[in-house]
Amino acid sequence: MSGPFADVIGDPIAHSKSPLINNFWLKALGLAGDYRRAHVKPDDLASYIADRRADADWRGCNVTIPHKLAVMDLVDDPGDIRGTIGAMNTIVRQKDGSLIGTNTDAAGFYSPLAELDLSGAPVAVVGAGGAARAVLFALARAGVGNVTILNRSPLKAMGLLATFGLKGDVVGLDAALPPVSLLVNSSSLGMTGQPPLDLDLSPLPTDAIVYDLVYAPLPTGLLKAAEARGLDTVDGLDMLIGQASLAFELFFGKSPPEGRDEELRALLTA
Ligand code: NAP
Repeated sequence: MSGPFADVIGDPIAHSKSPLINNFWLKALGLAGDYRRAHVKPDDLASYIADRRADADWRGCNVTIPHKLAVMDLVDDPGDIRGTIGAMNTIVRQKDGSLIGTNTDAAGFYSPLAELDLSGAPVAVVGAGGAARAVLFALARAGVGNVTILNRSPLKAMGLLATFGLKGDVVGLDAALPPVSLLVNSSSLGMTGQPPLDLDLSPLPTDAIVYDLVYAPLPTGLLKAAEARGLDTVDGLDMLIGQASLAFELFFGKSPPEGRDEELRALLTA
């Protein structure tokens, strides 16, 4: 098919919701264009990028596991993503064929929290992988207080605290939660096919917020437990739609349509 297009690249890629989201918005706006999925194995990443760079119809791509680090060696980085978040999830082709890498995960994560004053607030984050990097970057920018990271591999988590200049501590997944204002799950635990995330939420204050990046299944076990305690929750679809929205604008030059999120959420959970 000719005409403007973007895609999402990963290995595996069949599960990606990005084509559904982007094609929903293209159709809703009546824009010419197409959003595809591309199964790109690690050994083929450099040639894929070179081929796409030569294609004037290609607007860019979203990048998912396992390419978020490797693409940083293949594109320009004017926003110093390598030196800050340390992972890219979006590549945008400029008219001259140059490619700019960026990261929309951090802003997508933060947008449901933007109205809150998190400065000095104690927070807990589960996980220390790629998603945790975007979460910790955003939380550091919001000026949070003490950060407790719960992770299987403590050394990785300690490195992230240092990278983002955060003060806090690292504990195992079986540790008791501290009484934090915000609990974020940025690990894969609780995702369909992965082990559950079993946390005792009773130490959390009644005004705490529980945010789970995992969006399959919905609600996750963690969100169900938080709702049972009457806590406010944010699910992973908010971040998924938020990060996609910023990338869509970079690819197609228009913001997604307003007032259509409920319809999109229904499609994503059908
Ligand atoms: P990742 O880089 O592979 O990191 C996975 C994290 O989960 C690591 O901290 C890992 O611990 C932990 N983990 C995995 N399996 C575990 C197990 N069996 N026991 C204990 N810990 C385990 O993945 P990611 O890119 O950060 O993604 C993490 C999750 O976030 C995924 O479910 C993904 O779908 C979700 N996500 C959602 C959005 C969104 O828009 N909503 C965006 C990005 C990611 P170790 O450090 O010990 O290996």
